[in-house]
Amino acid sequence: MSAPSDNMPIATAIARPKPLLLRHLPYFIFAAILVALAAAVPFDGYIHNILMQAVTFAIAVFGLSVVLGLCGQINLAQAAFFGIGAYAVGIGTSDYQISYWLCLVGGCAMALLAGALLGMSTLRLGGHYLAMVTISFQQIVTLIMINTIWLTHGPDGVSNIGRPWLFQSSQSYLAFCVAALALVGYAVWKLPDTPLGRSMRAVRDNELAAGVNGIDVFRTKVSAFALSAVLGGLAGGLFAGGFAYVSPDQFAFADSIQFLTMSLLGGVASPIGSAIGTGLLILIPEWLRFLKSVPGLYLAIYGLSVILIIRFMPDGIWGFVSSGLTRLRAKVKTPPATATLQLKPATVGGDIVLEVTGLAKYFGGLKAVDGVDIQVKRGGVHALIGPNGSGKTTTLNVLSGLYKATSGKIVLDGTDITNMPPHLRTAAGLGRTFQNIRLFRSMTALENVEIGAERPGNTLIKQGGGDALTERAMEALTFVGLGSRANELISSFSYGHQRLIEIARALAANPTLLLLDEPAAGLNSTEKLELHELLKRIAAQGLTILIIDHDMTLVSEAAQHITVLNFGRRIADGESMAVLRHPDVVSAYLGTE
Ligand code: ADP
Ligand code: MG
Repeated sequence: MSAPSDNMPIATAIARPKPLLLRHLPYFIFAAILVALAAAVPFDGYIHNILMQAVTFAIAVFGLSVVLGLCGQINLAQAAFFGIGAYAVGIGTSDYQISYWLCLVGGCAMALLAGALLGMSTLRLGGHYLAMVTISFQQIVTLIMINTIWLTHGPDGVSNIGRPWLFQSSQSYLAFCVAALALVGYAVWKLPDTPLGRSMRAVRDNELAAGVNGIDVFRTKVSAFALSAVLGGLAGGLFAGGFAYVSPDQFAFADSIQFLTMSLLGGVASPIGSAIGTGLLILIPEWLRFLKSVPGLYLAIYGLSVILIIRFMPDGIWGFVSSGLTRLRAKVKTPPATATLQLKPATVGGDIVLEVTGLAKYFGGLKAVDGVDIQVKRGGVHALIGPNGSGKTTTLNVLSGLYKATSGKIVLDGTDITNMPPHLRTAAGLGRTFQNIRLFRSMTALENVEIGAERPGNTLIKQGGGDALTERAMEALTFVGLGSRANELISSFSYGHQRLIEIARALAANPTLLLLDEPAAGLNSTEKLELHELLKRIAAQGLTILIIDHDMTLVSEAAQHITVLNFGRRIADGESMAVLRHPDVVSAYLGTE
């Protein structure tokens, strides 16, 4: 492939996007038509109620598409958050004559607070705990609604709920809710391409890799959870105004499950799916109404249809449709480009990049790493070798913060990073790849590398600079030779190319020190040569590399300095040729292989 003759910047070649709102003008025109229809068509009371329910429920289900679809965290209490918003508007406007708007905002704030607190207390624990805690929270909220009679009127519920004076009629209030739905839908639709949305997808795809690429995993999860809760609260507040009456049985655990079913049925990955699922799950019972004379039959058919849809469309209805559309659409080709990727030169900073002293990591009685010292000089390639199980990967995991050191000290570029979480070490200048490739599998190659480029502390990127981000990511992909395939999904790349993408992701972050864990493992001989050549180009720019590898040719050619581990201890360290001839090293290798 020939390179373009002029020195056109890559971002220009990618095509300059129009301003966001202008690009989505059709969406807003469509939304305006819906709002106008809601305001103008004289629905009868029954249809109006169904629409009111569908519109408000859909907003709550959008919340699930954020927390579950984007971030991969379960929330089994969406009806509780919905109830908090509904009761805030209900009690506030009816018992205390507070302005509707204040009550709506107050309800959202309470849901947000509850969601954030719940998230902060459980999201460190992971999957099953989160599910259990959200169920308990749901039950507690229901109990409060039923039993604090002085406040909630107990099982009788709250009636005479007010609406804002602008939207007193049912018709205008419905139009207002449709407008809210359209705005929230737009925000949720655009969220995946914002920094926060990208972080959420990265966390969902691969938590470890997300942390190591500079994402604060915990904060991202809490944000997703709180965002989901606030959408539940907003939806509930709108719902209360729409029906003018709320009672505890409307916000029970079964309703949380219903919200969840709606989002799974339509497709949890997109707000379009949420809207479809909500509409269907409200409409199916209406369609099956004629069956109600036969007890049991109705529920059986209803349950069966939901099970069938989910069984045959695991990504939901919209997931099924949209994956078909993607396959039909021609692949977007990006123009090839020659790129020089700017990497951190060896001329900035002191002589030693990484100073590891007395590092130890014990797993119970097993001393996987046992008092290791490593000194990595700036601008060189430093190899860490040793037989299988000698503690190499564990050392890297302790360096990048995936494991906490049992003892010892790690100083990167003068900063003590021993006790930092992974994302802060990345911000401090550490980049790494994994022995078992860890990419974000639902994203394109370019999106993966953009996550790397976006790390906090990457001085080459202005924070929030979308164009600069894409440009940097394209440069990194082009640097590893995959620029022309930037928009393909990870699954379409060979194993060797996936490794290159992982390296590009680490390089895009402009690290001070690059850690590579067996980059040649699993590659065929052509791919090994490509990798070898790439490492030379990286080293030629003066970037400091600490590499684990089994390939002695690669190690002896590329590295100036070698540290050898055996049974978690350092058995040799020094200039490459001398170390490889060291009798302990020879016997460690001959003894085990
Ligand atoms: P290497 O990368 O040099 O092949 P590792 O660092 O992966 O070796 O493993 C060193 C030792 O630590 C091995 O005995 C391995 O079984 C053990 N080990 C690694 N990770 C864990 C873990 N999470 N829990 C318990 N033991 C572990
Ligand atoms: Mg290993």
